[in-house]
Amino acid sequence: THGLDTSGSMPRRQTRAVRVGDVYIGGSNPVVVQSMINEDTLDVDGCVKAIRELHEAGCEIVRLTVPSMAHAHAVGFIKQRLQETYRDVPLVADVHHNGMAIALEVAKHVDKVRINPGLYVFEKPDPTRTEYTPRDFQVAAAKLKETLRPLILSLKEQDKALRIGVNHGSLSERMLFTHGDTPEGMVESALECVRVCRELDFHNLVISMKASKVSVMMAAYRLLARRLDAEHMDYPLHLGVTEAGDGEYGRIKSSIGIGGLLAEGLGDTIRVSLTEHPLKEIPVCYSILQALGLRRTMVEYVACPSCGRTLFNIEEVLHVVRDATKHMPGLSIAVMGCIVNGPGEMADADYGYVGKSAGKISLYRGREEIRTVPESRGVAELIALMKEDGVWV
Ligand code: SF4
Repeated sequence: THGLDTSGSMPRRQTRAVRVGDVYIGGSNPVVVQSMINEDTLDVDGCVKAIRELHEAGCEIVRLTVPSMAHAHAVGFIKQRLQETYRDVPLVADVHHNGMAIALEVAKHVDKVRINPGLYVFEKPDPTRTEYTPRDFQVAAAKLKETLRPLILSLKEQDKALRIGVNHGSLSERMLFTHGDTPEGMVESALECVRVCRELDFHNLVISMKASKVSVMMAAYRLLARRLDAEHMDYPLHLGVTEAGDGEYGRIKSSIGIGGLLAEGLGDTIRVSLTEHPLKEIPVCYSILQALGLRRTMVEYVACPSCGRTLFNIEEVLHVVRDATKHMPGLSIAVMGCIVNGPGEMADADYGYVGKSAGKISLYRGREEIRTVPESRGVAELIALMKEDGVWV
């Protein structure tokens, strides 16, 4: 009634689909979940094991770091071993330094290369300098093009992808001097690199604007999306909050930064960076996507917080219901403490378990009350109802 879309669907920024191995980022594809292993890339066995574990846990693209030529060669063995013993997991190589030879070598073995443009044209801090003129920027852009050209042409020829991964903490001297440590500086840094790719007619691009401050990260992605859209550039975005830390706060920071932008329709692939084992990042990614209705990879549980009207131990029942039903992704199940507010607030769940009176609960299919049973048989009867309906698997 107030122009609100209550269907749960949100308009998304239109992007092109960029292929990374057999996964596509952007277009009408689901938001892709990715992470990064923290093994030493020279440890081929360890990396193969870690990549496989992450992939089996739901990580669709796996990144690894490539700081030297020896590491680049090791990636070739890792990729081959994965293909022979498991499957061709889409891999991304992080080449941070000004190591074009390394990037060129590893580009043969991976599906996407990630570079940080701030680190690619080395600019010595010059205390005597009072400004950077447009001419300085032109010269730097030409130098960047010369540096990146072999990598871009190689990726283009192999039909592989490039992530332009800007980090708030590592902008070039020129960008820092001109724009300061700001979202504008981050966006300019990315756009300079994007223009080089476009001049070489290379468009398999994904862009990221990571920062550890959620507000900076969100501002940078929003500004980037506006600038790209204004110039009709539909490259997909990779979202992440760097150095989010660990535990509950790390998860909350990531969820706000990543989830906030996704809720605005921005973002095509996500990585939650926790100071914990990478396997811990994957459920957080899927929970963010599930909460926004962007992917339904688990059962959606709706439950009231309970209050003085609650007629049973709701926390315990929710655990039992979850244990019994969590293998049926796509379903939504409500557990509500009482019938006063319960049925109306079940958010259109497929099934409901609602306190009716002392010792009795009611089972719902959608908004329809199906039967009232003793609480002691509640969960068994809920399962029986699902079986009758043919949804139980
Ligand atoms: Fe309380 Fe009932 Fe609302 Fe649960 S559904 S919080 S028991 S009023």
